[in-house]
Amino acid sequence: MTEATKFKAYAVLNAGEKLQPWEYEPAPLQVNEIEIRVTHNGLCHTDIHMRDNDWGVTQFPLVAGHEVVGVVTEVGEKVTHLQKGDRVGVGWIRNSCRTCDHCLQGEENICRQGYTGLIVGNYGGFADRLRVNADFTYKIPDALDSASAAPLLCAGITVYTPLRTYIKHPGTKVGVMGIGGLGHLAIKFARAMGAEVTAFSTSADKEAQAKEFGAHHYQKWGTAEEMKAVTGTLDLVVSTVSAETDWDVAFSLLANNGVLCFVGIPVSSLNVPLIPLIFGQKSVVGSVVGGRRFMREMLEFAAINQIKPMIETMPLSQVNEAMDKVAANKARYRIVLLSE
Ligand code: NAP
Repeated sequence: MTEATKFKAYAVLNAGEKLQPWEYEPAPLQVNEIEIRVTHNGLCHTDIHMRDNDWGVTQFPLVAGHEVVGVVTEVGEKVTHLQKGDRVGVGWIRNSCRTCDHCLQGEENICRQGYTGLIVGNYGGFADRLRVNADFTYKIPDALDSASAAPLLCAGITVYTPLRTYIKHPGTKVGVMGIGGLGHLAIKFARAMGAEVTAFSTSADKEAQAKEFGAHHYQKWGTAEEMKAVTGTLDLVVSTVSAETDWDVAFSLLANNGVLCFVGIPVSSLNVPLIPLIFGQKSVVGSVVGGRRFMREMLEFAAINQIKPMIETMPLSQVNEAMDKVAANKARYRIVLLSE
């Protein structure tokens, strides 16, 4: 057990407020935990939803940050697979029951007892150090630099999971809605999986880069009439959109047997038209991050295929400016916060 010294963090004290320097006394290092010196944090739009308590679940003080890469500095006595100096990543999920059928299949993201995540009073990566259960940390492959690896730990796994699940064969027609942190990685992963990819964006200036990421086609997001050329053509549509839009139009993009998968989490609801749903055998599904099985696989897949996010870096001390940039849809395409 290490001597407890305070961890220096950035915290939100009340909903909607800016983050401010804040310190906390960590609990003693448990036998199955490691301590990490944080070096990099990807900034996810979820950190903004959480700051603003958009989903009504945030506990304050909130130390956000769930795309964390750092170096192991302390190792609990029962941890055998990691040692000091290892470069590891931490994502959204911090623990699970490990005994339910989903956990036993590596789907801790849908643990029947509910996984332990950032939203239940755990402190995240916007800090100099972090103590976490070692079983929910991931060695970063040598082929991935830390700044590129950080966004994979949430954005990467969140899009990898539905793409890996629903792309059944090369040539599957995939639409990606919203070309932000998640969306640009979805284009890269889908392309690497052999899909024919259409990028849907409200931002006209993203066309060239969407194609550089691997999209075969770019479609400016619009009304059903404006997008009628693609209506009824896609086998899988993944929505990474963080705000309200016309979901009826998203549904209308599906071909028969098509799947509309939501990973973006606006506070919204759907009114699915049953006639086309039934007669076209279509599905509307959701997907949340991913379990440990897909996390390990995704990191390996990214390393082998050199799938890296396009990032801009800022110091962690500028986390508020960085959040404003993401909220204004001005990040291109993931901000990675560097610890000083
Ligand atoms: P982001 O970088 O801000 O990207 C979101 C994109 O959505 C924007 O770049 C924009 O793309 C599009 N968009 C924004 N406002 C829009 C509007 N009013 N109408 C249509 N499109 C709009 O955010 P992110 O970090 O990728 O996260 C995206 C969402 O996924 C967030 O809601 C986040 O909480 C959620 N998320 C879910 C999971 C999960 O497990 N399910 C995990 C991580 C994140 P264009 O400019 O191309 O239109």
